[in-house]
Amino acid sequence: MPHLGAHMSVAGGLPLAVDRAVLHGCRALQIFSRPSSQWRARPLAPEEIASFRERADAAGIVRPVSHASYLINLASAQPGLRRQSLEAFGDELDRAEALGLLGVVLHPGAYTTGTESGGLQLIAEGLAELLAARSGGRTLVLLEQTAGQGTMLGYRFEQLAALLDQLDGHPRVGLCLDTCHLFAAGYDLTTAAGYDETFIALDRLVGLDRVKVFHLNDSKKPCGSRVDRHEHIGKGCLGIEPFRRLLNDPRFAELPMVLETPKAVSTSRGPVERDAYDEMNLGVLRELLAYPSANTSASNR
Ligand SMILES: [Zn+2]
Ligand SMILES: [Zn+2]
Repeated sequence: MPHLGAHMSVAGGLPLAVDRAVLHGCRALQIFSRPSSQWRARPLAPEEIASFRERADAAGIVRPVSHASYLINLASAQPGLRRQSLEAFGDELDRAEALGLLGVVLHPGAYTTGTESGGLQLIAEGLAELLAARSGGRTLVLLEQTAGQGTMLGYRFEQLAALLDQLDGHPRVGLCLDTCHLFAAGYDLTTAAGYDETFIALDRLVGLDRVKVFHLNDSKKPCGSRVDRHEHIGKGCLGIEPFRRLLNDPRFAELPMVLETPKAVSTSRGPVERDAYDEMNLGVLRELLAYPSANTSASNR
């Protein structure tokens, strides 16, 4: 079965994110290893890195991932922003390597001033350069399929396929699929047929073996809205059934799946404490694993 977890705060240091995951019974974990909306980042102390790795290993957290800063835009043609983005994402990869992470989840980028194909080319060139400079590394670039807000690239599978083509199918590039983003981008997971078609299309264009991690979020906005608003599992436009299908889909049985749903405590500062919303959402997901078909569900939502 998939390894369930959540994005956890690193307030108080990276090792505390593992403690928060453990407190909620998680087997998967996503963190920010740099501030999510700031360019400046403090260096990670060797003791902090060692402690994170030890605790994650001891807790049996399967392949933690990090999410790259939202400021990074590898599709930007603006030289200053491009240089800053390449530097910051290089540092994200180096931190992930040091922390023993499966990879770094990255929004491919937004072509604010250029064209779609120009943007895709800039992203591919940037990633090729960063990976070539780290040829001995193992950590993956995990391109996240996006909701397609504004000029954000990577919401259509064709765009992700184009990126992989331009990277010659680089073995260190994988995909992160976010259920809210898929739905917002127009992939209707709410029907059995829509779910099947979505993954047939992805397999044909990219290959399902590229999928390395899932983000589990319901959506406040309808299918095809191209607006990214996360909702608690089962409480949004996706509803419960897409999650039941996904969690019990043997093709994704070994993958980490992490929640990015709203927290009850908006910023956990310092103490490691239970989050009522994380407990609620993880509880719903665990029940879906226990009841793989709708008519056998105890609550029959
Ligand atoms: Zn994301
Ligand atoms: Zn996501």
